[in-house]
Amino acid sequence: MSETTQDPGTTGLIHHPYTPPAGFEAPQVGVHKASTVIFANTAAMRARDWRYKNGYTYGLHGTPTTFTLEERIAHLEGGLQCVLAPSGLAAISLVDLALLQQGDEVLIPVNAYGPGKDFAVQQLARFGITHRLYDPMDAAALASMIAPATKLVWLEAPGSVTMEFPDLRGLVAAARARGVTTALDNTWGAGLAFDGFALGCDIVMQALTKFPSGGGDVLMGSVTTRDPALHERFKLAHMRLGLGVAANDAELVLRSLPSMALRYHAHDQAARTLALWLQTQAPISRVLHPALPGSPGHEHWQNTCSAAAGLFSVMVDARHSAAKVDAFVDALKLFRIGYSWGGPVSLVVPYDLPSMRSPAPYAGTLVRFSIGLEHVADLQADLAQALAVL
Ligand SMILES: *Cc1c(COP(=O)(O)O)cnc(C)c1O
Repeated sequence: MSETTQDPGTTGLIHHPYTPPAGFEAPQVGVHKASTVIFANTAAMRARDWRYKNGYTYGLHGTPTTFTLEERIAHLEGGLQCVLAPSGLAAISLVDLALLQQGDEVLIPVNAYGPGKDFAVQQLARFGITHRLYDPMDAAALASMIAPATKLVWLEAPGSVTMEFPDLRGLVAAARARGVTTALDNTWGAGLAFDGFALGCDIVMQALTKFPSGGGDVLMGSVTTRDPALHERFKLAHMRLGLGVAANDAELVLRSLPSMALRYHAHDQAARTLALWLQTQAPISRVLHPALPGSPGHEHWQNTCSAAAGLFSVMVDARHSAAKVDAFVDALKLFRIGYSWGGPVSLVVPYDLPSMRSPAPYAGTLVRFSIGLEHVADLQADLAQALAVL
C-alpha cells in the first residue's frame, strides 16, 4: 500500500504502516484492548484456537493483558488455569452455570455471600436446578446431606457477615468421599491466608474486587482450577455467556497485585487491634473475628490460616435498639457507610440478621467493619466518639 495515494486524514490514519520496535519492557504489563483481533491471513484466522491461550481471536477470549492477569491469579491461588469474570458474583454464577444442569442440586453454606445464594434461589431454580443450605460448622451433617443429585458443594471461609470459620478439611473430605465437586469462595483469604487447593478444593473462586483490586474501584472475579477438563468447561461457558473483562480494569488489578500482601497484612494487624479493643467496650456484646479466641470456628482458623483479612463484625447488646445502632453508625466519621471491602477506606454496614438467616444466630444488631489503611489510632478514636452515642 502506498501511503501517498491514500487520504492522509482518514485511510492514512487507520492503515499507517508504522509499527513500534519490539522489545519494550517495563514493570507494568501493557493495556491491550480489543474486540477485533487482526489476523495476518485467512489461514492464520482459521488455524487459531482460542481455548488454550496459544493465540488471539477476539477480545472476548482474551488479550495479552487479561491472559497475564489470569496467569498471575492462577499462580497466587496455587492453581494451573484461570478465567476472569466481570465481577465476583459473575464468577460464582459462571461456576454454577458451567457445572449444573436440570435435575442437579448444589449445596451452599447457610452463611454464604448473599447474592450467590440468591442466584441459586431466583435463577438456578428456574432451570430446574435445586439447592439446599447447609450448616458449614457441621461437616458430618454435610456428609449426610449429599444425595445422588448433588453435583456441587460451595465452601466459603469465613462465612459472610457472621464470620464463622468452618472445618474446610472436613467439608472437602465429606464432598470428596462422594465424588462431589467443591468450589471455594476464597475472597476473604485472597490466596494469602490459606491455600484452597492444598485443602483439596477443585475450584477456587475469588472476587478480585476486594483485595487484588484494593482500590474500591474495580469489579472483577476469577475462577481458578488445576484440572484442564474442568477449566475447559469454564472457558466454554465463559465464552457462551459473553463474560468479557475490560483490559483497563485488568490493568488496574495487575498494578495493585504487587502490593497486595503488604496491604492484606496491614488490614489484618489494624483489624485485630480494633477487634480486641472493641471486646472491652460495654455496648459490644460480641466480636466476631476468626482470629480472636472465642469467635466461632477460631480453632479451624488457627489450624488453617497464617493470616486474616481486615474484616470483622460486632454484635451490639440487644438493649440498644436498631435505631440507636444506626445512630452509632451515622456518628462514625472515618468509617464510611458502604458495601464491599479490601480498599483503603474503612467501611461499616449494619445488618439485620433475622432478615438474612432464620433462625438468627445472635440476638442484637450486627455491625460489620472493613478496616482500611488509615492510622489505627485514628480509627479507634473515631469508634470511641461514635460509641458515646450508645
Ligand atoms: C464481594 C464478594 C463477592 C462478590 O464480588 P463482586 O465483585 O462484588 O460481585 C463474592 N463473594 C464474597 C465472599 C464477597 O465478599
